This record gives sequence, C-alpha cells and structure tokens, in this order.
Amino acid sequence: MQLKYDNDFKNIIDDLNIITDIENIPFKILDYLNSINNELVINDINTNKLYCPICFKKLNKNICLHCNKLFKYYKIEKYKMNLNVSNIKECRHRINYYIFDTKEDYLVLYIINNTIGFDNPNSFMLKKFNKYSIEKIYQVKKDGLFDINLNKYIYFNEYKKIIDYFQSDSETEYDFDDDIFNTFETFREKSFLYLENLEDLKKYDFYKYSYIWTLKDYFKTGLVNLKLLTYLPIYIKEFEYLVKMKLYNLAIDADSITYKGNFNDTFGIDKKYYKFMQKIDISLLELYSLRLYPTTNKKILDFVCDYNGPLSFLKDYADILKIKEYMDNQKLDYNYLYEYADYISASKELNMDLKDKNILFPKNLIESHNKLIKELEISKDPEIDERIKKLSIKLEKNKYIDDKYIIFPANSIDSLIDESSQMANCVKTYCKPYSENKCQIYFMRYKDNVNKSLVTIEVKNKKIVQAKMKYNEEITEEIRKIISEWEKRIII
Ligand SMILES: [Zn+2]
Repeated sequence: MQLKYDNDFKNIIDDLNIITDIENIPFKILDYLNSINNELVINDINTNKLYCPICFKKLNKNICLHCNKLFKYYKIEKYKMNLNVSNIKECRHRINYYIFDTKEDYLVLYIINNTIGFDNPNSFMLKKFNKYSIEKIYQVKKDGLFDINLNKYIYFNEYKKIIDYFQSDSETEYDFDDDIFNTFETFREKSFLYLENLEDLKKYDFYKYSYIWTLKDYFKTGLVNLKLLTYLPIYIKEFEYLVKMKLYNLAIDADSITYKGNFNDTFGIDKKYYKFMQKIDISLLELYSLRLYPTTNKKILDFVCDYNGPLSFLKDYADILKIKEYMDNQKLDYNYLYEYADYISASKELNMDLKDKNILFPKNLIESHNKLIKELEISKDPEIDERIKKLSIKLEKNKYIDDKYIIFPANSIDSLIDESSQMANCVKTYCKPYSENKCQIYFMRYKDNVNKSLVTIEVKNKKIVQAKMKYNEEITEEIRKIISEWEKRIII
C-alpha cells in the first residue's frame, strides 16, 4: 500500500483500513444498497406515469399487479427514476450512497455510485442491471475531509470563506478554490445514507453535539450530501440548535442562520410562529417569506414564496393579501406582479401620490403601467422615440416573412412597452440601449395575428443573444430552427 501523509507531512495515515475495491464491500452493506435500489420506480418523462422497474408495466397506484411488488416511497422525488420509457434501453440512472465506516479511532466516509440500466447484456429480455463503483473515500476529521484518492485535505474553514464571500455581495473578485466548493456542493440529488450505524457518530468528539442521528427519518426521504453530513454538523454550531428545535429543513441550511441568543432575533420572526414552522418543517425560502408576511396559512405562505422578489418590494406600499386580491380582480397571472412592481416604482419616480387608492390600485393595471413607463422614458430622454423610429427603418432590412411567421424590428417606445406587458418580460428596459443601437430588438409573431406577441428577440453584433416566449419561457424547437436560419441572414 502506498504511504499517505496528511497535509503537513506530519502523520502517516497508511494504517487506515480502507476498502478500495467494490468487491470487498461487506454483504450487509451491499444488501442495503440493493434494498434502496429495489424501492426505485420508473417515472416516464413523457407521460409522468409510473412503471415497475422489473416488469416495465404501469403501476396501479403504488403496486405492480404483475409481480405484486409494493413501492413504499413512490411519491418521493429521490425514489423516482425520471426516464424516457419509449427509449428505455438507452436510459441510465445514477444514484449515490453515503456510508460511514465508524472505526475505533478514525472515521471514513464512502460515496458509492450506482448506475442502473435496462438493456441487460446477459439477457434476451429487457431487464434491469446495476453497476456499483466507489466514487470517493474521505477520512472525516474535525477540521475537514481528507480525500484518500487525491491525497488532499479539504478544510471546512476554506469552504466557509467561499460561502461568506458569496453571501457578502462584495464587489472585489475572489479567486475561490473550485475543488473545495464542488466537494461540498455536488452529489446533491438522489443520494441515500446508510442509516444502521448513524448513532455510532456519537463516539467522535466532533460529532458528539451535532445530534445528526436524530435526522434519521429525514435522511430516508430528504436531501443527503457531503455538506449536510460533515461540514454543517461538525463545523456550524447552529446545526445542533436547529436539529434540537426539530427544524430539519433549516438545519440543512444551518450556515444561513445565525444564532443571536433568542428565538425572535435568530429567526427574525415572533416565537408564536414556532409551532407552525415546526409543523411545515419550514425551509429557508419559506422563512424569508414568513418574515415578509407573518402568517400561519400555508397557501398564503406558498404565494409569498413563489413571488418573493416583487412582493418584498410591494409590501411597503400595500398589504400582500390586498395585492393578491387586486391581481385576481384584474384577472392577471401572478407573474404580472413584476409589472405591478415596475408600475409602482415608476409612479414613485414620477412623484405620484401612492396614498391615493386610484394610483396605488389603478382600474386597468396594464394600461396604466404602459402609459407610465412611456412617460418615464420620455422624461429621461425626449429624443428616444425619434431615434427608435429612425433605427427601425434601417433594421427593416433584416425583416423575415414566411407562410406562418414574421420577424420585424421594434419601431417605437410604445411597441416595446406593449411587447413587455404582453409577454410579462423586461424588454421595456431596453428602450434606451436599443435607441442607441447598442442592441437590436425584434418581435417574432404569427403572420395572421401580427399584433399578438409570440417571441421577443434580442440581437447583438448580428447574433441572437436572447429569444424568449411569454413569462421568459424557452422557445419551441420549430421556432428555434427558424430563428437560427434567420440569424445567418442578418445583414446590419
Ligand atoms: Zn412488476
């Protein structure tokens, strides 16, 4: 065996008893790997129907009527193999298993990869097969992980520096160690932890106070990754606090919570919400949303979570429930909350009285929004509309028409604002750069419905930089083909 040293070349660690070959994994562990593997169902990505991975027949709820197998965890995302059933032979599914090896005087953590395929080379029939391999082996220590294969230390405090940097919105460039970041952040999805010996972690000083073993039930269905198994319980003291509070979803983001001596200051929310937080096992985004709008109504909290961005701005002007009701009355999708936020922000810039209910909640939001945005643009730059008109006449040279579609340049502020509100996108903020020919804006529409928005296209240096459908959704394959052909013919 090759001699291995720690980083400072002080300790020889070659006496670790490490399994390097998957063949030598104990049967007990292999049984566990297979037991998890047998719980996985096939979820067809085309139909969202569940299939038995043994018989390839559709499941009846969670039972296969052919082999009588019952799938206990069929509703849980990490037990689903999202595959294209019509092309099952080509499909591969990968999961990871984390296994602690709790030796007397040291601790080793294995990550084992399991690749599942369906075209078994040893069988004429369609049949599931498994391939196991050892992905990573770490020695876990109080200040970091030692990667046995790379013979390299990964220190918790260096990872912490990277996280602090990203949370600080510092302007200065920071040359972070990508390796350390990836070590903790990869293998997020579809990972399982061997739970039989989790309580043995108590015997290591650095795990003693983590209470990580109380997350046993959580690990069966929830996220498992290296960060959650090592960095958080060993290095972040808030982890123990959150686990003891039974706020498990916050414990997995323990490095985003700072303990400040009491409940209210730590969570930024009154302690009377604690029961509710526990009941829904609140996540970090839900906590941020609860701060925005304290409530014990999960449906309202979900709404605040989904539109956290515009609502964190709008809440200073009106009650969130009133805003929701207003959008309902306007018969607008909640995605239009972004336009509403733009409207309020423009009203503010134009010194309008937002205490006036008719201004705060205009009769027709889209109409008022468009009018105001135009006013604001012109107030900043009176020549802007004229420049856009002139530019658009030149850009007519790039116009495209076929039997079904038409692509043409935006020809006024009005056209940009109208596109923006039809599509609920931000193209209206391009008025100024467009008028100065710093970018070009085109609309792709159906030829026989030329006033209705379909695709907004941004072009720079004769190349398409953005092409999006309503709510910034991706374009269809047919449209992609047409506009990439059109792109080759852009002449100015
Ligand atoms: Zn079956």
